[in-house]
Amino acid sequence: MKGLVIKNTGSWYSVKTDVGNLVECKIKGNFRLKGIRSTNPVAVGDRVEIVTNQEGTAFISGIEDRRNYIIRKSQNLSKQSHIIAANVDLAFLVATIAHPQTSTTFIDRFLASAEAYSVPVVIVFNKVDLLQDDEDAMRYLDMMVNLYETVGYRCVRVSAVTGEGLDQLQSMLHDQITLLSGNSGVGKSTIINQLLPGVNLRTAEISEAHDTGMHTTTFSEMLPLPQGGYLIDTPGVKGFGSFDMQPEEIGSYFKEIFHFSKDCRFSNCTHTHEPGCAVIKAVEEHYIALSRYQSYLGMLKDKDENKYREAF
Ligand code: GDP
Ligand code: ZN
Repeated sequence: MKGLVIKNTGSWYSVKTDVGNLVECKIKGNFRLKGIRSTNPVAVGDRVEIVTNQEGTAFISGIEDRRNYIIRKSQNLSKQSHIIAANVDLAFLVATIAHPQTSTTFIDRFLASAEAYSVPVVIVFNKVDLLQDDEDAMRYLDMMVNLYETVGYRCVRVSAVTGEGLDQLQSMLHDQITLLSGNSGVGKSTIINQLLPGVNLRTAEISEAHDTGMHTTTFSEMLPLPQGGYLIDTPGVKGFGSFDMQPEEIGSYFKEIFHFSKDCRFSNCTHTHEPGCAVIKAVEEHYIALSRYQSYLGMLKDKDENKYREAF
């Protein structure tokens, strides 16, 4: 029987079978993942094969190949990773213009990592209610929306407090596994509570579990949506991983850099110093925003210093 892993507590996995039952499963055998030392071989979002036994429980006997996954590197010395979720269909990147201000560097890195895994991203500009009386802030918001829409990302203006724009988010969630990401304080929990009234309790349960010393990494869950589909709340996630790309690949994860790079003289152009670089020309002529180009250069530099891997 096949199903979808929707919750993981310790060694137990809740699997929603394709016929709609919820079955508690353990893992049988050894699942090894290429190149990742992971504390959990199976994660929420995984499509699995299960075999049931007489007691009504089951074991997971196989995992389908993942389209993508999000990992968190462990803080301790073991250097093990924890897979937070797999097979994400869509990501909402929650950003704010003020209180706090989300940097374009953060946005661009997230977008590039999602691009590498072909996960579509919608940029959710939250807390727009705070900008109403501030003309400069409103202009900055318009500029950001314009910038990212021009690059090719859908942007939504939202206020989790007044409810503005939330209907647009609701309509995108249908039957998707959606990841909600963004820096702390941008309003992710508030948005979840608006999209899923009644989930409050569950958020509280999780934080209580943390307080009693339960390992953060042993608990992950997808929140089922009334319209079908699931929402994954992942505090602190900066992008998709594991990230180990070649310098000349990075440019292909910036949509507009990729577009212009086709006209570079050299096919392995890193768009930093090469003669005949169409990307540098496009930056000079303002077809590519300077902030995006700077984010790209930052990622290249980290790659040089081998910092980039650690960032994810
Ligand atoms: P998280 O860390 O991303 O989960 O952020 P929270 O949901 O905890 O929100 C952080 C703070 O921002 C809280 O005080 C929220 O009440 C506030 N907040 C969230 N969304 C909005 C919004 O749309 N407008 C305003 N004015 N405040 C908001
Ligand atoms: Zn170039």
